[in-house]
Amino acid sequence: MTRLQQGKIDTFRGRFGGAVFEPGDAGYDGARQIWNAMIDRKPALIAQCQSPEDVVAAVNFGRDQAMLVSVKGGGHNIAGNAVCDDGLMIDLSQMKDVEIDVAKQRAFVGPGCTLADFDAAAQMHGLATPLGINSTTGVAGLTLGGGFGWLSRKYGMTVDNLISADMVTADGHQTRASATENPDLFWGTRGGGGNFGIVTRFEFQLHHVGPELLSGLIVFPFAQARSVVTRFARFTETMPDELNIWLVIRHAPPLPFLPESVHGEPIVALAICYAGDPEEGEQLIAPLRSFGDAHGEHVGVQPYADWQQAFDPLLADGARNYWKSHNFVTLTDDVVRVALEYGGKLPSPHCEIFIASLGGQTGRVPHDAMAYSSRDANYVMNVHGRWETPGEDEHCRQWARAFFEAARPYASGGAYINFLSHDETDRVEFAYGAAYPRLVEVKQKYDPENLFRVNQNIRPR
Ligand SMILES: Cc1cc2nc3c(=O)[nH]c(=O)nc-3n(C[C@H](O)[C@H](O)[C@H](O)COP(=O)(O)OP(=O)(O)OC[C@H]3O[C@@H](n4cnc5c(N)ncnc54)[C@H](O)[C@@H]3O)c2cc1C
Repeated sequence: MTRLQQGKIDTFRGRFGGAVFEPGDAGYDGARQIWNAMIDRKPALIAQCQSPEDVVAAVNFGRDQAMLVSVKGGGHNIAGNAVCDDGLMIDLSQMKDVEIDVAKQRAFVGPGCTLADFDAAAQMHGLATPLGINSTTGVAGLTLGGGFGWLSRKYGMTVDNLISADMVTADGHQTRASATENPDLFWGTRGGGGNFGIVTRFEFQLHHVGPELLSGLIVFPFAQARSVVTRFARFTETMPDELNIWLVIRHAPPLPFLPESVHGEPIVALAICYAGDPEEGEQLIAPLRSFGDAHGEHVGVQPYADWQQAFDPLLADGARNYWKSHNFVTLTDDVVRVALEYGGKLPSPHCEIFIASLGGQTGRVPHDAMAYSSRDANYVMNVHGRWETPGEDEHCRQWARAFFEAARPYASGGAYINFLSHDETDRVEFAYGAAYPRLVEVKQKYDPENLFRVNQNIRPR
């Protein structure tokens, strides 16, 4: 543990509005816990902020005491970057304000909000912005890395909908990043992770969505995966922006619309969302049913906010997780072959391979418009190693790594920084792609001492 003088901690505590936890304090273990149970780090101090002023105080304290600093939003980062050993964890999870300006279609979102917090507030007015597919994920980390979900083909990446970010930089100053205020900082913040400062408030563009949409699942036996995955690959190449379909290979969860005999069996599922007129959507998705003989389906018109939570039970916290991911321009026959080979030997009933469709509006933004630059990524494949006990660690990690290597020759450049695991620091520059040299310049200007380095780190010059 860093030896911090108790007097300094007490002085800090005195001028800090939120809670401060040291090891042994009630609340310490709860605050340091994150989504991925593989990560068990113990900060010397946790500063749980209530306001931007608390964030300023915490940044100044961490910098002046030369502490390693980590920042927690929703705590979902697979690499565990919310939490550090022996340093200061700046915990934003209590800063959950959401304000909706209905007339201007803008949302002002606190850095502790989950997707569920944001969706609930915006959907009260039939509004939304593209976010991810698991409602307990933090808006902050998701946005700073790019962010994509069901609405992205129609409305772009989450970060394409970011209008401004109020920030605290490494020198402890509060500033704003937008197209007109510190545009270089805004450019870097839209995809460069938490490298340049701590965001205390996000401003997003909202769109009219739902509040009810056509969405749901069609589940096929894994024995028919060749037909389903190949036809998914071709169908998704020409679908309209309103339609989004993701493919998941896994063992069947005990879903009520599946026969009991299928529960636990290998399956391939299509997850569908249509952000338009449900009747039109029904016609568009009808051909999907001929991809195989489905075990069952649950597709219908339901609240968008409910669909945003449909995968939560499969993605609850507390499990051990290890991810590997690639971007693809096209899902060639080689990609399909590799996905089928490794989908046929899932090492745990909780492991899955999912292929997310992007494209549409996400690909129409110039690749150098902001730090998120993977505009050619029409698909993101995530090899989601997930299991329950430490005894399974090696076996499950090996499966994910072997699959990743087998698929590597067919992947495009760049990678999604929000899906990088803790042992992939050698992939960070590759992941940022063409944006990296400019990101280094922005880092040099706003965080030359690399205070914010527990992240997918961009090293200053
Ligand atoms: C189950 C699950 C499902 C997911 N699904 C999707 C999906 O559909 N689409 C998608 O795009 N992504 C998805 N992700 C990935 C997700 O975007 C990343 O895990 C993201 O990092 C989570 O953000 P967070 O705030 O919860 O994480 P945290 O671990 O709290 O933070 C992530 C990173 O951001 C930094 N950070 C957090 N808050 C701030 C802030 N206010 N200012 C500066 N830096 C900050 C942290 O230091 C850390 O480096 C998913 C993740 C999980 C675990």
